[in-house]
Amino acid sequence: MPATPAWPPKSLPRLFVRTPLSEGASVELDAGQANYLGNVMRLGVGAELLVFDGSSGEWLAHIADAGKKRMTLTVERRTREPEVIPDVWLAFAPVKRTQTDWLVEKATELGAARLLPVITQRTIAERVKLERLGAIAIEAAEQCGRTVLPEIAEPSSLKQLLSSRDPERRLYFADEEGGDSVATAFVPGPALILTGPEGGFTDDEREAIRAAPNAVAVSLGPRILRAETATLAALAAFMAVAGDWRPY
Ligand code: SAM
Repeated sequence: MPATPAWPPKSLPRLFVRTPLSEGASVELDAGQANYLGNVMRLGVGAELLVFDGSSGEWLAHIADAGKKRMTLTVERRTREPEVIPDVWLAFAPVKRTQTDWLVEKATELGAARLLPVITQRTIAERVKLERLGAIAIEAAEQCGRTVLPEIAEPSSLKQLLSSRDPERRLYFADEEGGDSVATAFVPGPALILTGPEGGFTDDEREAIRAAPNAVAVSLGPRILRAETATLAALAAFMAVAGDWRPY
C-alpha cells in the first residue's frame, strides 16, 4: 500500500506576505511575487501555494485572479501554527557583503531568533543594508519552512550591546584564545552568541566582554575559524546542545 503522500505536498511554492492572514482573506501579491508564480513557476488561477505572514503560522492559499503583473490569492486554511524557535540572538561583526549575506541566510535556516550586527574596533565592513539583509532572511525562511522571521537589529557598537543586554540573557563569547567547551557551556534559555571580526577582538574589548555579568567564553575548537564560519558553527552547536535539534 503506497504511503499516503504528505498534505500539503512539500513541493508547493511558499511565499512570505505582509498582509495579515486569516481564513478567506484576499492577498494582493507584489509584482515580483506575481512574476515568480506566473512566469517562473508558470502557475495560474486555481493553483495552490503556501503563505506565511511571520506571526500567524502557515496557510494554504490558491490563486484567485491573475493579470500581467498582478495576482490575488484567497487564503483557505491554516496548515501550521507558528513554530516556537529557541530564544537565540546572534551578535556578529559584519564582514564583507557576500559573506554577511551568506551568514544571514544560513543563520535564518539554522533558527536564529534575532540578528545583531555589532561594530567593534577591528570591524572592516561596508555599510550594513538592513533592507537587503531582510530580503535575504525572507527568502531563506521561504525555503527552509520557517513561519517566523528573524528580527534584524540596527547595527550597534560593542559598548552599546554590552550595556543594553539584559543580564538574564546569557552571553556566549566565542573566543579563539580559549574558552569553555560548548558541550558544557551551552544551556537552554535566552542566549546571546557573540563572535568577532576577521581581525578579532582587541584586548580591551575582550576584557570588557569577559567582565560582563552572566558571560562565558566558549571555544569553537583548536582552529582559527573565519568570522562567518565561527558565527554559524556557534549557532549550530547551540541548537544541537541546547536548542531545537534536541529530541525533546
Ligand atoms: N584574531 C584572530 C586572528 O586573526 O588570529 C582571528 C579572529 S577570527 C577570524 C574571527 C572571530 O571568530 C573571533 O573573534 C572569534 O569570535 C571567532 N573564532 C574563530 N575561531 C574560533 C575558535 N576556534 N574558538 C572560538 N572562537 C573563534
